[in-house]
Amino acid sequence: MGGVGRGANGRGTLAFCAFAMMLSGACGRAPEPATAKGTAAPAASPSNKASLWHREGRAPGPIIDIHGHLSLFGIDRIEAVLDAVGIEAIINLSGGSGRGGARNRMASRVLAERLGGRVINFALPDWDGCCDAAWAAREVQELRLARDQDGFAGLKISKALGLAVTDASNALIPVDDPRLDPLWRAAGVLGMPVAIHIADPKAFWLPATPENERYEELSVHPSWSWYQRGVPEWAAMLDAGERMFARNPGTTFIAVHFGNAAEDLARVRAMLGRLPNVCIDISARVGEFGRHPAAEVRQFFIDFQDRILFGTDIGIGDDHLMLGSNGAVEPTMADVLPFYEAHFRYLEGKERQIDHPSPIQGRWKVDAIELPDEVLDKVYRANARRVLGLGAGPIAPRPTRRPSPFAPAAASDPSVGAGAAPGMALRPTAPPASGSPPEEDH
Ligand SMILES: [Zn+2]
Repeated sequence: MGGVGRGANGRGTLAFCAFAMMLSGACGRAPEPATAKGTAAPAASPSNKASLWHREGRAPGPIIDIHGHLSLFGIDRIEAVLDAVGIEAIINLSGGSGRGGARNRMASRVLAERLGGRVINFALPDWDGCCDAAWAAREVQELRLARDQDGFAGLKISKALGLAVTDASNALIPVDDPRLDPLWRAAGVLGMPVAIHIADPKAFWLPATPENERYEELSVHPSWSWYQRGVPEWAAMLDAGERMFARNPGTTFIAVHFGNAAEDLARVRAMLGRLPNVCIDISARVGEFGRHPAAEVRQFFIDFQDRILFGTDIGIGDDHLMLGSNGAVEPTMADVLPFYEAHFRYLEGKERQIDHPSPIQGRWKVDAIELPDEVLDKVYRANARRVLGLGAGPIAPRPTRRPSPFAPAAASDPSVGAGAAPGMALRPTAPPASGSPPEEDH
């Protein structure tokens, strides 16, 4: 049966993921009018309880973090982070799948409901059985159910695709495998953007020696190395992704981690120029694209100001915290605000040689790029609102058709999901695996 490989490319290797409009029209739905209602702070903006660094004179408006990995069991910590940072919505890319991930999907739906829609879930496919026509039909139906029953907004594809997911003949499934096209087309028809992580930092294909620029990170996570692991080359994987994007022009793709190619601005520029259905996020790659000359990066952001989404790759569970990428010692909640501030300082400020948000990814410094206010407004919020179809109104829970596990009957027995199908009951004392999102989701 197909599924996620458990050999040399097994699940344990997938604990990490990471992340530009020259042309109007861009990825997703039509941009909001130039008057940009989406750029002003609405009355419903979250309260800023903390005093975070922002450029002098810049009123910190609400932000959308397009890239998070969240667990219901970290709900208190999630809410605290949203309030303190001024995040009006965060996208949970670990929303769960159907079938084997159904409990996680329900938990994610509850998380979104409990936080008034400030968490927006993306669904995952269940690769088991991939990739015949029956599998594709099943996963298309699961995606529809995730949207209609549980209010999910998009589809997330982890880096397992292309690196670890195998088919019935135990062969790696390439990112542009035509057997997956029904899923991409369905996402487009359903109005669900696809956030996709392809490959990994280029350095992960080189020997994990002290000469490797990601040696520190690879030392902590040796399984992240793809050197001599029988997987396609870095550039070949990205080429496959671009072929797939081009074949599905009706589907919006968010190529995470700066288009998965922060090392090569020219490659990302060419991709965005050629493929109007593709956006990128900046998650877990500020340190990487920040190595290019600041003037060059700044111009890139200006050229593609409608195609770049703010995201961090923060992971929050009850016993787990990830800030872009983790080192040997897991961060604490005290590290969260400085993590977000490092993003703001880079994007808004003009300091030279400052720390980037995830130093474990490389002990070098970056030069801030001092983006214009109108570009910041788009990157922080307006682009995400457009791609997610949020309009300009206040954030609210997305409509669902399945009864909430916290519907009236739950008052007498809160451990059992009222109205949920058998086996779908939510028991907060027995999370899906741990309080952390499944590793492969990253
Ligand atoms: Zn991620």
